[in-house]
Amino acid sequence: MNVFKKIFNLPLYVQILLGMIIGIIIGMIALPLNGTTFVEHWIRPWGQIFIRLLQLIAIPLVFVSLVKGVIGLKDISTFSRLGGKTILIYIGTTIVAVLLGISLGLIVKPGNLVNQEQVLSMQESYQSVVTEKKLAAEQTHDQGPLAFLNDIVPNNIISAAGDNSKMLQVIFFAVFFGIAMLTIPQEKVKSVAALFDGLNDIILKMVDYIIRFAPWGVAALMAGLVTDFGGDVSIFSALAVYALTVFAGMTLIAYLFYPTLIHFFSSVKVSNFIKAIYPVQLFAFTTSSSAATLPVTMEAVEKDLKVSREVSSFVLPVGVTINMDGTSCYQSIAVLFIAQVLGIDLSLSQLLTIIGMTVLSSIGTPGIPGGSYVILTMVLTSVGIPAEGLALILGIDRPLDMLRTAVNVTGDATVASIIDKAKSQ
Ligand code: ASP
Repeated sequence: MNVFKKIFNLPLYVQILLGMIIGIIIGMIALPLNGTTFVEHWIRPWGQIFIRLLQLIAIPLVFVSLVKGVIGLKDISTFSRLGGKTILIYIGTTIVAVLLGISLGLIVKPGNLVNQEQVLSMQESYQSVVTEKKLAAEQTHDQGPLAFLNDIVPNNIISAAGDNSKMLQVIFFAVFFGIAMLTIPQEKVKSVAALFDGLNDIILKMVDYIIRFAPWGVAALMAGLVTDFGGDVSIFSALAVYALTVFAGMTLIAYLFYPTLIHFFSSVKVSNFIKAIYPVQLFAFTTSSSAATLPVTMEAVEKDLKVSREVSSFVLPVGVTINMDGTSCYQSIAVLFIAQVLGIDLSLSQLLTIIGMTVLSSIGTPGIPGGSYVILTMVLTSVGIPAEGLALILGIDRPLDMLRTAVNVTGDATVASIIDKAKSQ
């Protein structure tokens, strides 16, 4: 009894790691005992339920957190002075991060380290879903260069919200809704804003419950994957290289990309920036939550980087919701890794979809530990990669989450410094 109590008191990421190990052991035991069907019928469904829960919450989460993010730009006068620039820079840095992630994933190809025979059998089992999506993607490709705009603008919000692969349409509606709301006198829409505040809390609570189920879900999915892989262990070396690839991406963004931006576009010295941001990174690293780090980020940015309060109080809270360079770089590497392990060849148009989806979906990712799991299921579905592939990476995700959160907050501080200089010019 006591042992169970102790296990439940462990931090969630340790529980997830334990879940992964237990899943592997179950799979390994099932294999020689011919228990594959047992795993398939009695264990794997729990993992699938976990994935379904993540998918279930994705649309409400993206919708509510985006609307809240946009209406957080409340003061329309600050918004019109600083908003456009801030958002452009945020999106620009996110695009760079995603392109870096895609390049690293394509150059290193961590997923290709998995035994190719296993990949072939995975490919067979998932081929039908992939082909269907690929055909759909190619059809859009044939329709002309602006066809993607058609895909972004929904003609019916209910059907857009009813299909997880149409997340861009939901994002479009949420941003449109939020902007319209911003232009109406606050008094009139006060109750709607309060409603979104409440909804946001409720949905984050639901995400919290779902993520608590992760150790069980991961154990079940892992057991299924081990039987799929017939006990092959090459997946672990692939995972190690995947983690190193993410690490390389994070280091490049934090220590090359941001310092370059700081050097050319802000009035802060790079060495001062690195010194001031270090404790913030440490806090983000330990909490894995950029939202929880916000007060620490604000203090460092105002006191040590001497950014004006007007800029920091607008740019940083907005950044927590919409600017996640670490997360988006990681997401693109993760999607490519899962595709490589499952033997899914991505076409150019699918790669473009991944780029678009990761840029926009990092906007909807909540700044909480594991916030990107929910969003990843949607990016995967949108290009026809089975969301169960997530199981491959969840077990070792916590250290990567810590790293990407540290990068996320560094990005917010970088942009705040840039905007502060631009404002005073
Ligand atoms: N934990 C990250 C953050 O708070 C979000 C994520 O990538 O999961 O910034």
